[in-house]
Amino acid sequence: MMIDRILIRYGEISTKGRNRKQFVEKLRKSVKIALSPFQKIKIEASHDRMYIVLNGEDELAVIEKLKRIFGIQSFSPAVKVDKDIEVIKEVALKLVRSLYRDGATFKVTAKRSDKTFALNTDELNHNIGGYLLQNIPGLKVNVKNPDINLRVEIRKEAVYLSSETIPGAGGLPMGSSGKAMLMLSGGIDSPVAGYQAMKRGVELEAVHFFSPPYTSERAKEKVIDLAKKLAEIAGSSITLHIVPFTTVQQAIREQVPENYTMTSTRRMMLRITDEIRKQREGLAIITGESLGQVASQTLESMYAINDVTNTPVLRPLISTDKNDIIKIAEAIDTLDISNRPYEDCCTIFVPASPKTKPKREKVRQYESYFDFEPLIKEAIMAVETLTITPGREPASDIDELF
Ligand code: ATP
Ligand code: MG
Repeated sequence: MMIDRILIRYGEISTKGRNRKQFVEKLRKSVKIALSPFQKIKIEASHDRMYIVLNGEDELAVIEKLKRIFGIQSFSPAVKVDKDIEVIKEVALKLVRSLYRDGATFKVTAKRSDKTFALNTDELNHNIGGYLLQNIPGLKVNVKNPDINLRVEIRKEAVYLSSETIPGAGGLPMGSSGKAMLMLSGGIDSPVAGYQAMKRGVELEAVHFFSPPYTSERAKEKVIDLAKKLAEIAGSSITLHIVPFTTVQQAIREQVPENYTMTSTRRMMLRITDEIRKQREGLAIITGESLGQVASQTLESMYAINDVTNTPVLRPLISTDKNDIIKIAEAIDTLDISNRPYEDCCTIFVPASPKTKPKREKVRQYESYFDFEPLIKEAIMAVETLTITPGREPASDIDELF
């Protein structure tokens, strides 16, 4: 094929004014990581677009990778040609010929950002269009809904021809919105919430609570596998903090009236996550909560639980119905892992009737009779921190962190 590069359009980034440079840099980094298997490609980034120069690498394989990168609005396989109308016509003919099927219709869409070029857009459209009609028998014009839309872009440095526009993943480039802690359970919702946050440019670290021996190694493996999926989507490694939670949970069971244990458990989880966030310099906490889904996710519950911190708690799924969450989980390939039947720490010691409308003052009072702080500190000291890299076994880097 004659395609020699892929033109990438930024979409939303280009509206970010002075921050644009940083956004472009983040996107370039994501693209570089995603395309690292293709040794020969070259990335050319400017303030309004990016080109992947293929240098002989497989166009279709590169396209598959690009489809998953956040921050790309759309992209087009393209060919670069000299600013000479005769050359443009010849290359246009070759390109349209290679796409032509019996009875196909076309139009030419010229765009001229370099106004010094001899022909204006109307002249370009006519000139090139006429040449194609002359040379491809059977080809017809259709301005409204053509099979082939040949785009001719006259820019300062060169002319670019393309015919296909492929939608990108949208969103913002990884890391452009700062770092947050994802509270990752083994359930369906939290990995989806993590995905939604990543799509908006958030860099994630995951925090998981487990309660041995009440929760098994298998439950832990499940969470590691979920983190692996998220790392694959991110295209880079994800740090996973695993918090031993048994002693805190036991203390709650002994100190707090049964119908408030669920509320208190959530408060302790949030407190611990917030401590880890501080150490890791994150800016927010993300959960998979969805309004009204279970007893801990009523507004009254959230009000009583959120009481322990001022840190923004982001809930990307707050208004998403379960069916829609499941669809996303399927699309990002986390559903099968989430459906593995292992217990979560929150499902042990579950009271028969958890309060759906807990009172903040009451839970504060119940917790005040016991000093949870030492147990919380102990749990944080014992956190196991793993680096989850796509395609590799998880590595422990406990020493580096605590
Ligand atoms: P999920 O499917 O994400 O587990 P859920 O509908 O089962 O959600 P809950 O179990 O009430 O709801 O959990 C609500 C949120 O609390 C989760 O989405 C997750 O962010 C957090 N969470 C629950 N259990 C844990 C855990 N063991 N470790 C870390 N976070 C957790
Ligand atoms: Mg759950």
